[in-house]
Amino acid sequence: MIYLDYSATTPVSYDVLETYNTVTKDFIGNSNSLHSLGVKSKTLYNSAKKQISDIFNVLESEITFTSGATESNNLALIGTCFGNARKGNHIIVSKLEHPSIYKICDYLKTQGFEISYVNNDQDGLIDFEDLKKLMRPTTILVSICAVNSEVGIRQPLKMIRQIIKKENENTIFHSDMTQAIGKVAVNFHDVDMSSFSGHKIYGPKGIGVFYKSSRINIAPVLYGSSKDNSLHPGTIALPLVVSLSKAIRLALMDLDKKENFVRRLNDKICNELKDIEGIKINKTKISIPHILNITLEGIRPETFIHALEEYDIYIGTNTACSNKELSTSVMAIYNDKKRALSTIRISISHLTTTDEINKFLNSFKLVYYKLHNLVSG
Ligand code: PMP
Repeated sequence: MIYLDYSATTPVSYDVLETYNTVTKDFIGNSNSLHSLGVKSKTLYNSAKKQISDIFNVLESEITFTSGATESNNLALIGTCFGNARKGNHIIVSKLEHPSIYKICDYLKTQGFEISYVNNDQDGLIDFEDLKKLMRPTTILVSICAVNSEVGIRQPLKMIRQIIKKENENTIFHSDMTQAIGKVAVNFHDVDMSSFSGHKIYGPKGIGVFYKSSRINIAPVLYGSSKDNSLHPGTIALPLVVSLSKAIRLALMDLDKKENFVRRLNDKICNELKDIEGIKINKTKISIPHILNITLEGIRPETFIHALEEYDIYIGTNTACSNKELSTSVMAIYNDKKRALSTIRISISHLTTTDEINKFLNSFKLVYYKLHNLVSG
């Protein structure tokens, strides 16, 4: 099997799974219980949470565990809007967000909030002048993803933060870091809130992180009993939390080395495919190498994906969470409907081998020429 859909999800690392199993077996107590089994669980929870907050150089109280990035994004956007509605009703998001952000925005519109979509240039970089123009005294939130999930566009969060805060120091800045963590370096201090999922970094599915700076206040979205964190009440998922802390530690090791390796594989694919008729590489100077978006003119993405599957090769479409054929990100960057209509996403990991890429390229060309000849008659 050749798996090239790492941005949809990653296989859980063996060490992480071992941790999950051990904690599930050996720590049966609810960490809210007063007896010694509860205390044992609570102690482990505290040390895992401390490890994560130390890694990101933030306070333990600033970390909330959620079920994943979708929930973290909900908490960030809805929590900020409902908690700060008296300060304003205006939100700014980019045109390169994950569908989960747009779905939340659609809901917030029904609740009286107004959404602006900031432009980007032809590399996908946020248009700073447009951002400045859109900022208002009533702008309570700006949400811009650190790395876009379809084309891998990476935004300079620190610079964006400076622009936002200069225009309105009360505006809260959130970044969806789901496709950034474990691929490129991030700094939580560049933002007020961030979101990510464990399963994108070789961790377990069903857990995510929501970071919220202690400087800002948001309203809870969930209500229930909680001793640890009022933003995510209920029994702590201890095996998930502890195995996530291991996954984060492993994912952040040797980032540069892993990125350089992935870049070489990405370059190899681009060099082999770039001159083929009907193929367009959707890559700009601020795309990260782990995500490679390609247009196959006239070929339906799902047809191509299933044809590659015959060779036991697995790639993705726009995002695993969107069934739409039109790539909103390719559209936002190239403003070309034909180019945005049939795109595939190849996502590469440091676990990918050169041999896998060679085999992938051979099968890719076989499938492509077959389908291309069919559509061009
Ligand atoms: N944000 C981004 C940028 C993503 O890529 C994804 C997953 N495709 C999500 C949010 C949602 O993550 P999850 O499905 O783990 O909730």
